[in-house]
Amino acid sequence: MIPGVRLVVLGKQGAGKGTQCVRLSHHYVVPHVSTGDMLRGEVKSKTPLGLRAQSLMDQGELIPDDMVMEMVGARLSERDTRGRGFVLDGCPRTTTQAERLEDIVHPFGVDLVVNLEVPTSLVMKRLASRRVCVDCGANYSTAAPPMVNWTCDVCGGEVVQREDDTEEAIQRRLDLYEKQTAPLIEWYDDRDKLVHINGTGSPDSVTRRVVGAIDAQRQARRPSVP
Ligand code: AMP
Repeated sequence: MIPGVRLVVLGKQGAGKGTQCVRLSHHYVVPHVSTGDMLRGEVKSKTPLGLRAQSLMDQGELIPDDMVMEMVGARLSERDTRGRGFVLDGCPRTTTQAERLEDIVHPFGVDLVVNLEVPTSLVMKRLASRRVCVDCGANYSTAAPPMVNWTCDVCGGEVVQREDDTEEAIQRRLDLYEKQTAPLIEWYDDRDKLVHINGTGSPDSVTRRVVGAIDAQRQARRPSVP
């Protein structure tokens, strides 16, 4: 079986992170750990964390680092993620979260951090047309809707526009991304973990670029045989 991976995927909202993370988790046979999906699950179940997170999420604000990293720490200490690894989607969002993540994954560390690069104009267009299933989180768009009347093809749930996909909230999240998340790129670059991947083009071609980058990194780190 293909070896697992401990992968972090960064990129603006709408850069195709969710789509690529699902594909990469299938490719490497590791769980897809999405903090956005986990938080939406908490909101739906009305847990104490969900109740505190809801209004921040609706406004496009970040959830405090402590709350998010406690949730991530619990998920990454489960047997599946400790064993084969994970594809982490939506986290870290701040350098404080990155530092906490290092502690959580110690002593293995993260193998690679992928920065999916897509121009902001394309991201705005994608997010405004995005529609998601309220039950399973499957992604659709106004250009590629589900087959029957906004009912999810996968689970039959209702397919809607996310509360935080209004133009105002999108702009706020993109501004926040620049301010708080972009420094992470430098943080990981300094630690020689970062690879920039062109996120435009078909989902297949983007996945091929990411898998190629992981293969190249593994090749480079393999001890050379005399
Ligand atoms: P996403 O699905 O990744 O766009 O996340 C949706 C919302 O969940 C974000 O706008 C934040 O409010 C919250 N969120 C998700 N991940 C994090 C994180 N790592 N740190 C703080 N807030 C987060």
